[in-house]
Amino acid sequence: MHLKGKTALVTGSTSGIGLGIAKALAVHGANIIINGFGDADAIEAERKALEELNGGKAAYDSADLTKPAAIEAMFARAEADMGGVDILVNNAGTQFVSPIEDFPAEKWDLILALNLSSAFHAIRLAVPGMRKKKWGRIIATASAHSLVASPFKSAYVAAKHGLAGLTKAVALEVADAGITVNCISPGYVWTPLVENQIPDTMKARGLTREQVINDVLLAGQPTKQFVTVEQVAALAAFLTRDEAANITGANLSVDGGWTAA
Ligand code: NAD
Repeated sequence: MHLKGKTALVTGSTSGIGLGIAKALAVHGANIIINGFGDADAIEAERKALEELNGGKAAYDSADLTKPAAIEAMFARAEADMGGVDILVNNAGTQFVSPIEDFPAEKWDLILALNLSSAFHAIRLAVPGMRKKKWGRIIATASAHSLVASPFKSAYVAAKHGLAGLTKAVALEVADAGITVNCISPGYVWTPLVENQIPDTMKARGLTREQVINDVLLAGQPTKQFVTVEQVAALAAFLTRDEAANITGANLSVDGGWTAA
């Protein structure tokens, strides 16, 4: 229970990796703010389940992170209801797969806003409170695509490389303030985000579903296994511990060996 009395805001945590990270932090006693879209009853059930895990508070904020004003309002609510944000996990993200010539400009704008700019806004709003408390943890779910590229994912690769750069720059700025800033870079994790890109990848490359899974998604992952949500979440939880106080500015791969090649 090393996080008792601390509050974690995990963006994009109504499903997938974000929900897994929220659970892993709740187990250690953190109050949790989850965020994202989805079915209201399902979200309420997850919120209640988090309160059972942490024995404390869990709140849901429906902020659309593509809108800076909504992020500001979310932080104002976090301050009023939870006493601020001690652990910020910038996890929300989306994907779009298309050749560059056909890449819709509005999809580029959406991916940059959600996968990169929302992290900038959340960090700039979180740092003043963390400086006051002389403690903070900022974690981003980046991606193997923050280190290497794949074709047809220009916006995603650009945003994730940007997120890794943002992590390094801010880590240096707050290094002497008790705040660490890191990103976790998973390979392919079996979540709705991966499931949803299979049809577009089938179309873009002219492949079957099985070919996309085995020859595209797992082709570059030497373990030939999808990473699990729990494996990513366990690393996020470790980064909140005192033992991780000197891990900062790092880009930590959980990718089955993908980026070692
Ligand atoms: P997911 O689709 O399961 O979850 C995405 C979350 O973001 C959901 O909670 C969704 O409601 C939320 N969201 C979407 N648009 C939003 C908006 N405008 N405002 C607020 N919330 C919004 O996806 P996931 O696979 O769990 O991905 C989470 C993160 O992990 C993303 O940043 C993704 O790029 C990254 N990632 C995923 C994989 C993978 O293989 N699944 C690999 C590497 C990195």
